[in-house]
Amino acid sequence: MTASPALPPPPLPGAPFVSYHDGQLMVEDVPLQTLAERHGTPLFIYSKAAILAALAAYQRGLAGRDALICYAMKANSTLAILKLLADAGCGFDIVSGGELERALAAGAAPGRIIFSGIGKTRQEMRRALDVGIGCFNVESVAELDVLSEVAQACGRVAPVSIRVNPNVDAKTHPYISTGLKGNKFGIAHEQALAAYQRAAGLPGLRVAGIDCHIGSQITAPAPYLEAMDRVLDLVAAIEVAGIPIHHIDFGGGLGIDYNGDAPPAADALWAALLARLDARGFGGRALMIEPGRSLVGNAGVCVTEVLYLKPGEQKSFCIVDAAMNDLPRPALYQAFHRIVPLAEPAAGAAAATWDVVGPVCESGDWLGHDRALAVRPGDRLAVLSAGAYSMSMASNYNTRPRAAEVLVDGNSTRVVRRREPMQDLWRLESI
Ligand SMILES: *Cc1c(COP(=O)(O)O)cnc(C)c1O
Repeated sequence: MTASPALPPPPLPGAPFVSYHDGQLMVEDVPLQTLAERHGTPLFIYSKAAILAALAAYQRGLAGRDALICYAMKANSTLAILKLLADAGCGFDIVSGGELERALAAGAAPGRIIFSGIGKTRQEMRRALDVGIGCFNVESVAELDVLSEVAQACGRVAPVSIRVNPNVDAKTHPYISTGLKGNKFGIAHEQALAAYQRAAGLPGLRVAGIDCHIGSQITAPAPYLEAMDRVLDLVAAIEVAGIPIHHIDFGGGLGIDYNGDAPPAADALWAALLARLDARGFGGRALMIEPGRSLVGNAGVCVTEVLYLKPGEQKSFCIVDAAMNDLPRPALYQAFHRIVPLAEPAAGAAAATWDVVGPVCESGDWLGHDRALAVRPGDRLAVLSAGAYSMSMASNYNTRPRAAEVLVDGNSTRVVRRREPMQDLWRLESI
């Protein structure tokens, strides 16, 4: 036993509860090597403390307000993570009937569920009405009409909010920007008042609120402030028209540190947003937000094993056992994830430059380009910031079973999803 150091080892950038301790990469107090040996790779590992710390920043920022944090569960919909967030006070933002059932299976209170998405089916609407969800975030006039019809047919009144598109540039990747004209999401700012008038006149609907969501991986406060101003302008205009707006939902989208990104902390962002809200006289309103990535993204890592090294003239490839079916963000958005070895490299260890790629038969199957790593086959690597839009987007492409998931809490660990059995991949098929 060595004397305990004065300070705990510093966390890795973008991974608040991940650090090297005596040369071993740890999540909280658990060495990742131990978990990889016990459960195999690829393996997702989440820090409970990191998730709760991310949530606490929002809770501090919104303290004293009438506010509901609805976790956008598409970021990571694993039941144990939903349960953790529900127990910590979160509601849920869902985008499908499947997510509704998942949230209920995790013990979510139906009244704290809001339903977003541009393509809700009648069947999904009916089920959401039957269980009594908190609000439908409606994204088109046509959807208002259908929802009213469905609600009337089952003798209910649907609480609605209209997702308005404030035409604000979130300055993020085009595939994750949603608040500009030309996006498929929401109702244009200019048409919002007319849509509210229509909603107010439909017998199956009750206007409850207004919402917006301008994009994802937003790293500056300015787009939020701009969107808030535009939404508040609308609230004023809608209320002048005699339609009260009970709650205002500002969506999600706050970014995380993938590669030196420096988004505002959630509490600092909300201090600025609430100051604007107060200055405009809306401070007493019921508020909702829909964060996804910023609650779970930096709380997860994916451990993978190096299978082969393939040095080449132009490019050298480090072939690992995780792939685009496990970690789709690089293929989908050319996204960057830090990749670090589980065994801390010795000072001055000779690193080479590798493209870290998976076994899937696609050139788009890469996890990182041009990474300096001192690696040998059999070594294990951790792909950082893999808590959001990774497992929830995982597929079975190339007939690859999905990875297992472990939740770490201090020095205790729990398998929250077993590795998918191979036979399950064709269980529903017939020859
Ligand atoms: C995806 C989504 C969110 C969450 O976005 P993050 O960037 O993960 O915070 C919130 N609201 C809606 C409507 C979404 O589609």
